[in-house]
Amino acid sequence: MYEPRVRTRSMERFVCSQEPPNRSESLLGDSARRLKISKAALEQIEKPYTFIYQRLPVEVEGEVINISSGIVLHNRARGPYKGGIRIAPDVNIWETNELARLMTLKTALADLELGGGKAGIRVNFEKIYGLFKDKFKLGFHPFCDMLKDHIMKEFVDHFVERGLVRIYIPAPDMGSSGREMMLFYNRTHDPAVVTAKPEGIEGWLPGRHEATGFGTAYAILKYLEQIGKDPSDITVAVQGFGNVGSHAAYYLNEFGCKIQAVADLYGGVHHKEGIDVVELMEYAREHRTVKGYDAKRTIDNKRLFRMPVDVLIPAASGHVIDKNNCDNLGVRLLVAEAANMPVSFEAFLRLREKGIELLPDNYVNSGGVIASDLEYKQGVGGVRFSREEVFEHLRRRFDIMFESMLEVKKRAGSFTQAACDIALKRIYQAMKTRSLI
Ligand code: NAD
Repeated sequence: MYEPRVRTRSMERFVCSQEPPNRSESLLGDSARRLKISKAALEQIEKPYTFIYQRLPVEVEGEVINISSGIVLHNRARGPYKGGIRIAPDVNIWETNELARLMTLKTALADLELGGGKAGIRVNFEKIYGLFKDKFKLGFHPFCDMLKDHIMKEFVDHFVERGLVRIYIPAPDMGSSGREMMLFYNRTHDPAVVTAKPEGIEGWLPGRHEATGFGTAYAILKYLEQIGKDPSDITVAVQGFGNVGSHAAYYLNEFGCKIQAVADLYGGVHHKEGIDVVELMEYAREHRTVKGYDAKRTIDNKRLFRMPVDVLIPAASGHVIDKNNCDNLGVRLLVAEAANMPVSFEAFLRLREKGIELLPDNYVNSGGVIASDLEYKQGVGGVRFSREEVFEHLRRRFDIMFESMLEVKKRAGSFTQAACDIALKRIYQAMKTRSLI
């Protein structure tokens, strides 16, 4: 009889052993020791339930290009797999895996009846445009929109064919937006298939578009209140001015903080007296970058990180603060992780030593998934939430999360470790209750 040399369990171990060392596993190991969760149980919580690798062939100007994509279904002990779709040139399966694991922790910290998943699509738009710019006359941005539409339609087809509707519920992440989410609705006509649907589409949620940025600003406000600081005395630098960074800057400005610097992938701007955020948002909407907003006072990402400000908000890609640059940061008080995983584990330890507070991603940017949870409930239950109700709900959830983190921080040591302890305990209990461990 044929006896496979690698049995399924060993196969899972072999694949997962390829994962590079990462922050979420370091934090989970640390939390498991405090919570006395066994190694075997922790392994079941850390490792993903399923990996899906998906090739997406798309036709552009008569030629076929194969795009790589992956979906990681991490954990659904507490509810359906939930997490965004990242479209970027540097996407890789381990990044997608860690982002999916982070979603499991984030939904548990916010006490939502959802699990964690993520999708990643690796596309270098600039490189592909370079191959077709002689044939495609409309310019770079129309080319990107056209290519993204083709890629997403292919992705949605596979998503439906694999039976993932209502099993994995996507949302936007870096590089995707409501426009891409709409394609899931176009294909299925199911309002619960996806969240962050554009305004007017069955089941859309007022306030979802701004929810992550609003939550980021509110999470920072809670911290400032707790340490007795007046927001009008606080200066801020923001990396990334997309959905999250721009709305976080807008609401922090509304709360009284001064936004002194903003940078994105292409360039940046700094105004000591405070940037006019509304004007910058209008500029960025039109030009798809902040570059060129003020040619006299420009700043790049390196200098932005060195600026002496009270609060630094990384709101772009991951791993931007690590052991190489964490000693050169100009920030005095707080790093608030609006992006997912912007600070490495070593940098987290170093910031703690230096007395710079870190508010973790699974707390700071959870406004998006908290609002998505309401949108999903609308989709499956026919209820409706107003914009005021959504914002009130976000404030309430952030108040509860912050209070519970403050309490657990006394034992765990930091907000980051406290957030991980709270989430891990809930996931462990759900898996126990459902006889999954
Ligand atoms: P987005 O695509 O709308 O905007 C990304 C911004 O970051 C753009 O301004 C882009 O120019 C900039 N950027 C990208 N790479 C950069 C780099 N290497 N250096 C400097 N700037 C860079 O994305 P988004 O939705 O605002 O997401 C930003 C971050 O927030 C991501 O880490 C994402 O995972 C996280 N997040 C997003 C949501 C959401 O609801 N959109 C929810 C939770 C977490």
